[in-house]
Amino acid sequence: MKHVSRRLLLGTFAALIAAPAAGEDAPRKRAVASTSIIADLVRNVGGERIDVKALVGANSDAHVYSPTPGDAKDIAGAAVVFVNGLGLEGWLPRLVTASGTKAPVVVVSKGVPARRMPDEEHPGRSVTDPHAWQSIADAKIYVANIRDALVAVDPPGKAGYEANAQAYLAKLDELDKEVRTAIASIPAERRKIITTHDSFGYFGAAYGMSFIAPEGVSTDSEPSAKDVARIIRQIKQQKIPAVFLENVSDPRLIEQIARETGAAIGGKLYSDALSEPAGPASTYIDMMRHNAREFAKALGGV
Ligand SMILES: [Zn+2]
Repeated sequence: MKHVSRRLLLGTFAALIAAPAAGEDAPRKRAVASTSIIADLVRNVGGERIDVKALVGANSDAHVYSPTPGDAKDIAGAAVVFVNGLGLEGWLPRLVTASGTKAPVVVVSKGVPARRMPDEEHPGRSVTDPHAWQSIADAKIYVANIRDALVAVDPPGKAGYEANAQAYLAKLDELDKEVRTAIASIPAERRKIITTHDSFGYFGAAYGMSFIAPEGVSTDSEPSAKDVARIIRQIKQQKIPAVFLENVSDPRLIEQIARETGAAIGGKLYSDALSEPAGPASTYIDMMRHNAREFAKALGGV
């Protein structure tokens, strides 16, 4: 109920400030995004012209999602579908086909320099790391792709989408500086982090930190006892000061590693999904800021 009344209020407000040109009514177009992070970027670029729904919601894992009949309906009714790509949403192509949608499916990571990681399940082979949003420079590419796709499906909104994207990209530049400052405040030899799954590779490459994870770049397989023993050895040898929980992963593994190594639990990171609206990472910008601050706090930065 609360949600409905807020939507109505927002709608009324939008009608007051953005009256459609030449008396024509501009109905809001519907967009679907695979994750809460991508939905937030779409919301920032789409503004009042776009209603966006995330398939995989707050605090949920996009690697192993099970679509619902409602998801197929949402996709069928959407003007455009935004997905991360880079192998994140293995469950999505079937869902799109099943929905029968004619809407374009836009891969927002198009043009991002993809990172390859060793494939732990198939030694000698490599897999693509899908977590490109963890680099703000790459998120800016996502935003440009979203802007271009919205202009293509809704040409009358072009000026608005371009202005929104420009303003948001400027905010991301500020955010990038802020994250760099936070990470630079951590003594170099302490910029080492353990997380459950390997979701911070792009962050590490962009901001100069190393991340080690018992699970690979997906959460679809459990780490073996050997993997966990290797991590525990590494933490002790390299004197890694802190391990981190993730909002999309089972906390028990990290809690076990913390117990066996004496490493501190440095708080909860938001890796693949935003927090609930009242949480500390309910937007992409808040998520990146929160994670950088947690790193700095746990590792002796400011
Ligand atoms: Zn992930």
